[in-house]
Amino acid sequence: MTNSNPESQDARTPSNFLRDIIAEDVRTKKYGDAVIQTRFPPEPNGYLHIGHAKAICIDFGLADEFGGKTNLRFDDTNPEKEEQEYVDSIQKDVRWLGFEWDHLCYASDYFGQLYEWALQLIKAGKAYVDDLSAEEIRQHRGTLTEPGTDSPYRTRPVEENLDLFVRMKQGEFPDGSRVLRAKIDMASPNINMRDPVMYRILHATHQRTGDEWCIYPMYDYAHGQSDSIERVTHSMCTLEFADHQPLYRWYIEQLGIFPSQQIEFDRLNITYTLLSKRKLLQFVQEKTVRGWDDPRMPTLSGFRRRGFTPEAIRAFCAQIGASRTNGTTDIEMLEHFQRDDLNRRASRAMAVLRPLKLVIDNYPAGKEEFVEVANNPEDSSAGTRGVPFSKEIYIEHEDFREIPPPKYYRLSPGKEVRLRNAYFITAQRVVKDEGGNIVEVHCTYDPASRGGNSPDGRKVKSTIHWVSTAHAISAEIRLYDKLFTKADPGDFEEGESVLSNLNPNSLEILLDAKLEPSLANAKLEDRFQFERVGYFCLDPDSTPGSLVFNRTLALKDSWAKIEKKSGA
Ligand code: ATP
Ligand code: MG
Repeated sequence: MTNSNPESQDARTPSNFLRDIIAEDVRTKKYGDAVIQTRFPPEPNGYLHIGHAKAICIDFGLADEFGGKTNLRFDDTNPEKEEQEYVDSIQKDVRWLGFEWDHLCYASDYFGQLYEWALQLIKAGKAYVDDLSAEEIRQHRGTLTEPGTDSPYRTRPVEENLDLFVRMKQGEFPDGSRVLRAKIDMASPNINMRDPVMYRILHATHQRTGDEWCIYPMYDYAHGQSDSIERVTHSMCTLEFADHQPLYRWYIEQLGIFPSQQIEFDRLNITYTLLSKRKLLQFVQEKTVRGWDDPRMPTLSGFRRRGFTPEAIRAFCAQIGASRTNGTTDIEMLEHFQRDDLNRRASRAMAVLRPLKLVIDNYPAGKEEFVEVANNPEDSSAGTRGVPFSKEIYIEHEDFREIPPPKYYRLSPGKEVRLRNAYFITAQRVVKDEGGNIVEVHCTYDPASRGGNSPDGRKVKSTIHWVSTAHAISAEIRLYDKLFTKADPGDFEEGESVLSNLNPNSLEILLDAKLEPSLANAKLEDRFQFERVGYFCLDPDSTPGSLVFNRTLALKDSWAKIEKKSGA
């Protein structure tokens, strides 16, 4: 399934079976008068990515719709990979997306309760301490077609299990020497039910509990019970946990605690995008990108730095909804939502990325005038501004061709074009350097065409943007392209890795772009459309007098398509 065309789905009622389930549970009062309670449970082992945005919009969004509440719960059961930096970034990103949690929780807050419940299961003969090594446990597990075999320790008496588990907790045994396992069914067709490990020994310092614990619960044992403690009614997670659901229910039933229910939905996959914290961490560590918030990263911090807006990401998530089968969504769909949002909110400005000097021979030297320009044609309340104009201006290199190819309507010798909001100009001659490169274009202007229209009704086929050289500010511009060359970055030859699908041209830096002077006052939260060029925002690397702008997205470039078609 590919959701390539956002218009093909009804924008008002995107599919979402989760909403239907909750609505039905509310109708039948499945949880009595309790409010709908959800949670978003990230493991703090990396920064959130756009896949998490989908989960956040589902967890928070659906609870909101039904007047319910959502906890942010850190699933911090793996002290070796988890860090405070991630805990902080995750909170920042959830808030940036526009959501506020009810309680901030940590699975580690429940370590004491989880331990008590483990003792309870041991006493009930439902859990045992196993001395087999990890490798031996794997060998005993069986396969999809063959049942597992019982561990020789499976029949250990309750008293011995209790004694050993308490001593595991007290730190008497080395890492990996013993585990606590649930006693379920080694012949179950579901491998997750073949006496899954509940606790492992790990002498590691935890970022919150320090050295208090040297046994840590496994995800499956911690997650459902944490849900139950928080009285989560609908615990929504991705499809890879569907096979774990029987185990999720088993623990809750054995313990007789609040019956949270797990419901699985499809994981977001996007073309040209890698959504795995583990792999993204590798990119950061190996400096494939400049950091977690590199604007090419699919992290929320990367999207934020690139100029994406929470409104657009939420609109995208609302549109993709949720389903019971995994698919892949085209990156163009996310970009469509972002362009749509920026088109409405971005201030227009003129910026020349690859400047070519243009001299207007018949314009008075030393004269300066200001042309009045709308800040946002989509939003009249955004007002107007005066943009300085003078005898020498910069235009884009690509807006001039000495020998124009067919269908090239921009400036070339003898051709007349409009300077946006200013005048009609006609190119007269070029100045070249010793290498034969064009360094200056000379032209004449029609003073009667001020504002961009000629009183005689003369038409021009093209309008180009410009910046007055005397007033221009210089800036660094970072142009981003897809990080991968393949729609499926995971599609690589044996012996290779996703690295072989990296796009070597995903970042292009232009060090001396020329911008209209109003951009000197740009702020980080501002969004701009550089006319005819694309959507841009200020990068935090900027310092006063040394600005850096990121291209959020290009505008659709019809010329590039024409050139491509004609094979030029
Ligand atoms: P990753 O593989 O990137 O580390 P994860 O599933 O291990 O992802 P968690 O921190 O455990 O990441 O995820 C928190 C929540 O976000 C979970 O409920 C998980 O199901 C959900 N989630 C993670 N990735 C996606 C995705 N691509 N699409 C939708 N939901 C996701
Ligand atoms: Mg995970």
